[in-house]
Amino acid sequence: MSTPLLRHFIDGEFVASTKTFANISPVDGRLLGQVCEADRPLVERAVAAAKAAQSGPWAHYSPSQRADLLLDIANGIQRRFEAFVAAEVADTGRPVQQARTLDVARAVQNFRTFAELLRQSGSELFEMRSADGNDVFSYSVRKPHGVVAIISPWNLPLLLLTWKVAPALACGNSVVIKPSEETPSTATLLAEVMQEAGVPAGAFNLVHGFGPNSAGEFLTTHPDVDAITFTGESRTGATIMKAAAEGVREVSFELGGKNAAVVFADCDFDAAVAGVLRSSFTNSGQVCLCSERVYVERPIYERFVAALKAGAEQLKIGYPDEDGVNMGSLISHKHRDKVLDYFQLALEEGATLVSGGAVPQFGDARDQGAYVQPTLWTDLPDHARCLREEIFGPVCHIAPFDSEEEVLRRVNDSAYGLATALWTRDLKRAHQLSRRFRVGMVWVNTWFLRDLRTPFGGTRLSGLGREGGRHSLDFYSEITTICVNP
Ligand code: NAD
Repeated sequence: MSTPLLRHFIDGEFVASTKTFANISPVDGRLLGQVCEADRPLVERAVAAAKAAQSGPWAHYSPSQRADLLLDIANGIQRRFEAFVAAEVADTGRPVQQARTLDVARAVQNFRTFAELLRQSGSELFEMRSADGNDVFSYSVRKPHGVVAIISPWNLPLLLLTWKVAPALACGNSVVIKPSEETPSTATLLAEVMQEAGVPAGAFNLVHGFGPNSAGEFLTTHPDVDAITFTGESRTGATIMKAAAEGVREVSFELGGKNAAVVFADCDFDAAVAGVLRSSFTNSGQVCLCSERVYVERPIYERFVAALKAGAEQLKIGYPDEDGVNMGSLISHKHRDKVLDYFQLALEEGATLVSGGAVPQFGDARDQGAYVQPTLWTDLPDHARCLREEIFGPVCHIAPFDSEEEVLRRVNDSAYGLATALWTRDLKRAHQLSRRFRVGMVWVNTWFLRDLRTPFGGTRLSGLGREGGRHSLDFYSEITTICVNP
């Protein structure tokens, strides 16, 4: 049986290239299909199409027409909802239920939210009196940057891609997207939706491939790319930042995390246990916001560790479409090797293994997949690499603490600064402590709850800039101030 070939989408048309790579299922190691890999000339074609669109019909869309188009795209995804779910599940091995309620639902929401925000967004106007007595008006207008390169990761492929595509198009840019080589399918479906929705040729382009010496590098180093928005590893961000320095292009980075959950003794115990289970094991720990470091106030520490162990051992790992499945596979065998290396390293660094730590055995095709058990450790010293480096798997370390100042110091003692989750009933403490964490986001008695109008992003190794709401509109726009002396 022949397997599908995923193609690029350039200037309004699907385009094949001769070089291809395999798309492998992380559930059972099966070949899902082949994916075309863009070489430099093909990426140049995509950028040229995007640039040309800036002086074609796309350039004449009013904000209101762009908002209508975003709604058409949202409706197009909604119409093919189950096809998107199936594609995301096949590439990632995640539970079908998650793809339905999070990945694809949020993709639709991303387009709807930015359509609405675009309609509501205005601009600033200031009045002043000039030295010669005239009333002078200064106002600002938003214009697109031009060509925006969008490079996205594999962990929430469609969600994170549309989080950037929607506001970039809302602001009138042309985009060239490069999805992760691990998850090419939903991006290709999105290109079909763009075509069906009548997005003008060249406004949306897709190239497939890898990072270094492949489509990712060819795109980010292209001089006609005006801005780069990237979600992925901090190290890749640093490489892209160097590329963006040539020509002083705008960048927006959402990078890695080594996030903490902090549980005070006064918390709602059951809610905190359920919350930390979610924040450590959602998407098999492959969310940049997942908690890999859990600090628990000493009076409830032993009880909390026992409850978390019981909860982790009840998680059902399995096929994406199994009833009640909580955890799927990791994204790939390569990523599993990395996670298993950390499992080994943790023991060398002195960890006590509380639960998991191995590859589950199923006795069926899943043994060819990329599964690992949800894993809990205690007793690592604060300087352990397993507590300082992002692992990006279903794993967390639990440590006791005795005071607010102590836990604040330990949470902030990290090169990353993405998110912290705080569990306490003392709201005064929650407000005061939250602003002292060196992170972009703090959740109090919840986790991963997102109002898409709020700023999102991290500090230090976790990123640069904020996206979300008007912050996205700001990043994807070039703002010109016009000063009029009547
Ligand atoms: P990655 O950096 O390996 O790859 C991300 C993308 O960059 C892929 O499309 C890849 O092909 C491309 N790429 C790699 N090298 C490149 C290069 N030299 N030039 C141009 N493009 C290049 O990341 P990943 O493994 O796909 O994703 C996991 C990482 O993403 C984790 O670190 C996670 O924390 C992070 N992440 C962050 C956020 C956030 O919002 N802060 C969200 C999701 C994921």
